[in-house]
Amino acid sequence: MKIALIRGDGIGIDVADAAMAVLEATLQKTGQPKPELDEIHAGAAYFQETGQDIEADGEERAEAADAIFLGAIGLPSIRHADGTEISPHLRLRDRFGLYAGVRPVKAYPNAPQRLADPRAAEIDLIILRESTEGLFYSAAAHKRSLVVNDDEVQDILRITRKTTTKLHRFAFDLARKRQNKGFQGRLTCVDKANVFTSLAFFRQIFDEVKTDYPDVLIGYNYVDAQALDLVRKPWDFDVLVTENMFGDILSDLAGGLVGGMGMAACAEIGDHTGLFQPAHGSAPDIMGQDKANPLAAILSGALMLDYLAEKLGNPHLSDAADLINQAVDDGFRNNRLRPIEFGGDMGTRAITKAITDTVSESR
Ligand code: ATP
Ligand code: MG
Repeated sequence: MKIALIRGDGIGIDVADAAMAVLEATLQKTGQPKPELDEIHAGAAYFQETGQDIEADGEERAEAADAIFLGAIGLPSIRHADGTEISPHLRLRDRFGLYAGVRPVKAYPNAPQRLADPRAAEIDLIILRESTEGLFYSAAAHKRSLVVNDDEVQDILRITRKTTTKLHRFAFDLARKRQNKGFQGRLTCVDKANVFTSLAFFRQIFDEVKTDYPDVLIGYNYVDAQALDLVRKPWDFDVLVTENMFGDILSDLAGGLVGGMGMAACAEIGDHTGLFQPAHGSAPDIMGQDKANPLAAILSGALMLDYLAEKLGNPHLSDAADLINQAVDDGFRNNRLRPIEFGGDMGTRAITKAITDTVSESR
């Protein structure tokens, strides 16, 4: 099992190290061989040193690995001459066609809750965000904004049959897997089909794909109503599938309901590889202080193990992922995890040790 490791900038370096330490401990615990790590240097600091945002053969080596793990990339103080941020990872997303952005949102016991309703403890959902087209990256990554004249600028909301079919298949498969794990497994298509022709198309393809999944419960919601529902009754939802920009906004909203950035794991999956990273950035305000919460990165490591279990046909890796998820859950329940981010007394290293200890002690 070969993993391309891009630690990147700021706290990305510390949380990536944390995730790799936990990965090794769980693989050892489940009797699996050590992963082979290929560290690829990339990011803003690397750019400042070398004038390149990633090592010359970095993209090829990332492609050759079974999966890519990334800490965080970018520092506001280091930019390209034109003022844009250093973002080699966006090129990777494009190059590898990482269309499926997976963002789990889960309430942990004793972690901060924004909602007074006791059912908020039940929040456990996944937002699936298309990540290569839609509104947003079709503009930001491909500079596809249309400058009409000095007084008007337009962007494009691009939905293709090919990508959307893959996305919805991924969503139905995920909902089915969740059902098998005891969740409700209900899949909600989130769009604005009443206003945008492109999103009516998005829903049409959802309906075409659904005929292959008669066992999966489905629902539909307009994105504005979905935002309201995520605040009013997030516990009613299981898997949400939506376009790029809507998914970006909803996942921040949902993440805010269950704690801070330090809990937000993320996977970006394509046809041939997957990139796993915490959803947060390099957090220069707290870098080098052992304050970052590494759990988002550690949970992203669990997502990677689940992905690799399927890709490599090795169910033990899925057991290893369960072990990590269980350690985080138990840790919060027993008050063994008290991140500084949540007003607790535990920094990056202490949390990492608590998780590796729990994993190693588990039976
Ligand atoms: P990006 O543009 O890369 O998304 P950003 O500007 O949105 O980055 P982040 O780096 O994600 O910012 O940080 C946002 C805020 O959340 C900062 O105040 C940061 O300290 C905090 N934060 C982010 N990640 C963590 C973490 N793992 N643990 C604790 N605090 C964090
Ligand atoms: Mg951000």
